[in-house]
Amino acid sequence: MGARPRALTLYSTPNWTSFHVGSSWADVVYGNNSHKGKKSKQPCLQVEDQNGRRVTDGGGCWSGLICPGADLYLEYHVTGLYYRGGSWEVERNGGSEKFDAVILTMPVPQILQLQGDLGNCKTLTNNQKQNQSEQREQLEGVRYSSRFAIALFFSPGVVFSFTWGARYVTDSHCIRYIAVDNKKRSTGLGPSLVVHTSVPFGQENLEIEKDAIQPIILQELHRLLPDLPQPISIKSQKWRYSQVLTSVPNCPGHMTILEQPLLICGGDAFTHSNFDGCVESALSVLRAFKVSLDIQKNT
Ligand SMILES: Cc1cc2nc3c(=O)[nH]c(=O)nc-3n(C[C@H](O)[C@H](O)[C@H](O)COP(=O)(O)OP(=O)(O)OC[C@H]3O[C@@H](n4cnc5c(N)ncnc54)[C@H](O)[C@@H]3O)c2cc1C
Repeated sequence: MGARPRALTLYSTPNWTSFHVGSSWADVVYGNNSHKGKKSKQPCLQVEDQNGRRVTDGGGCWSGLICPGADLYLEYHVTGLYYRGGSWEVERNGGSEKFDAVILTMPVPQILQLQGDLGNCKTLTNNQKQNQSEQREQLEGVRYSSRFAIALFFSPGVVFSFTWGARYVTDSHCIRYIAVDNKKRSTGLGPSLVVHTSVPFGQENLEIEKDAIQPIILQELHRLLPDLPQPISIKSQKWRYSQVLTSVPNCPGHMTILEQPLLICGGDAFTHSNFDGCVESALSVLRAFKVSLDIQKNT
């Protein structure tokens, strides 16, 4: 999983709650930590959904999702993928490198924008080419919701007139979610608020610049929270690819574009949005990757 909200923010929409309570990943999210055989004692964050249900980040379990010993390189912007016989050459800002296997987890429209041989390997058989053109059609069908957000930063010492840590908003044409962000972080700085817009609002205003949207969100925020103190600074954000609305149909959680050298796509577009969809895809990619390694070992 990657960068749509980089920090771990757990939030249960009514839809998510109704579908996932009782599942193992819901147990994790709700702080049961049943996979470790113990209950989490001290939730880091209390969040209320619109039904007053409490959702907690129990902490601890997330570290198990990060592979120990892996070298992690950030800020490598991939621009192209080139088929080089036994390997893939990955072109990025500032250079290129060859790899035996490549797993792509960026949003699907960004996968389709890559330069090079993705879906166009010259040595493919006709059957493989047919398969790749079907895959491309499926990838082109993936749809995402879009979202704006603003972060408001307040002076240290500012106290809000409300006590909740997050609120799911249903009576607004624009705002869907408000979080008191500092409750999650204990930075020692002043309080901060993060405000997300709704799916319909994101869709209607997708092509508008985030700075032009900021005053609309602020005006609506002041309608919802009239006592809100004056912030000392405000930051705007826009996500063109937020959550998957239409994922790849009938997909096991990943798509193998080429088996040798291996090229796999994964991410929420291959399952469904939300945390459990991401985990399902990650596990599915891992299984496919291990099978590929085993085949290579035995040949
Ligand atoms: C504002 C917002 C709120 C959300 N809230 C929730 C929530 O409450 N609960 C929930 O379950 N889900 C939520 N989601 C959805 C969740 O973030 C996604 O489902 C999840 O991040 C998808 O994970 P992923 O690994 O498939 O893709 P991503 O997290 O999108 O990771 C893709 C990665 O690819 C990188 N990338 C893209 N192009 C390139 C390139 N050319 N080269 C190199 N890297 C590239 C990106 O920088 C990113 O790191 C929210 C999303 C947004 C935007």
